[in-house]
Amino acid sequence: MREHTIAAIPADGIGPEVIDAGTRVLASLEKRMGDVRFHVETFDWGSDYYRKHGVMMPADGLETLRKFDAIYFGAVGAPDVPDHITLWGLRLPICQGFDQYANVRPTKILPGITPPLRNCGPGDLDWVIVRENSEGEYSGHGGRAHKGLPEEVGTEVAIFTRVGVTRIMRYAFTLAQSRPRKLLTVVTKSNAQRHGMVMWDEIAAEVAEEFPDVSWDKMLVDAMTVRMTLKPQSLDTIVATNLHADILSDLAGALAGSLGVAPTANIDPQRRFPSMFEPIHGSAFDITGKGIANPVATFWTAAQMLDHLGEQDASARLMRAVERVTGNGILTPDVGGTATTKEVTDAVIDAIHSSN
Ligand code: ATP
Ligand code: MG
Repeated sequence: MREHTIAAIPADGIGPEVIDAGTRVLASLEKRMGDVRFHVETFDWGSDYYRKHGVMMPADGLETLRKFDAIYFGAVGAPDVPDHITLWGLRLPICQGFDQYANVRPTKILPGITPPLRNCGPGDLDWVIVRENSEGEYSGHGGRAHKGLPEEVGTEVAIFTRVGVTRIMRYAFTLAQSRPRKLLTVVTKSNAQRHGMVMWDEIAAEVAEEFPDVSWDKMLVDAMTVRMTLKPQSLDTIVATNLHADILSDLAGALAGSLGVAPTANIDPQRRFPSMFEPIHGSAFDITGKGIANPVATFWTAAQMLDHLGEQDASARLMRAVERVTGNGILTPDVGGTATTKEVTDAVIDAIHSSN
């Protein structure tokens, strides 16, 4: 029996609804497979915890998580708690503390889902966006001078290091190499930003020499939004900075039909620490408690987690089940259906059990 320990952090908004759906699906996979066990322990960290304790997670939170094989995360953010507390108090400390420098965001149009683009159907859009997850524009450096005065200046410093850029570039080239098309697009804004972005371009060219079988090209981020929209078939693997990939992957999620189907994995490729798996979307308070949150992103990221844990069969089985269910039109309202979270989840569990 193979065993894996998973720390579940449902946190805020629809987080608990989708993580509950995801843990039910993991339990059904366990039954179906018979040779693997997932020990899921749930932590009540997040904005409620903050209201009670003044912090989003306990001081020894990272120590606790460190013992797990993976982290299964819902969403953070609440209307009454500032973003810098929710984000910097829980999600970012985990990403940074565990050096999860590769943020991996697959996008494709699932069967049964009608995407917003006329020129695009299932199979036409099959991308993985690799987001640099440890530095860049979200390094937290900068400041405010002369606060509140007419001469006030605010700076937001993007920090790129040779180590940081080289490692994400290698990760992206390796991933591109493992996919059938062996195609990588490196995104920057090196025409207008002349320092760190030019370094990105240079390091991309250096790392490319290690991967002669990968075709690669460079795009400026503004032109990239146009290419994603008008020529989605021309892209495969994409690598971009923290900020650029954040924006491009929201666009990618929308082009695939909904943020509710967009998963993400925060990976420590060296496997010194647990990696973290979550849907891209936030806490979605507009639909919280209504039972209609789309659980597909949370299932898909569970498939990413299973892959990372070496459970490729379970991962493939889960994705087949999800695609069968969406293909049968069992969809939540964000992708044009009328099903509830529970109906989609029950259907995925049925598909896991009935397929071979
Ligand atoms: P955050 O600030 O945490 O990123 P946000 O305000 O950007 O959150 P999201 O929570 O990502 O917002 O949601 C954006 C929109 O997408 C909302 O209208 C929300 O209802 C919808 N949405 C997000 N996730 C889902 C989901 N799983 N199922 C259905 N709709 C969703
Ligand atoms: Mg958002």
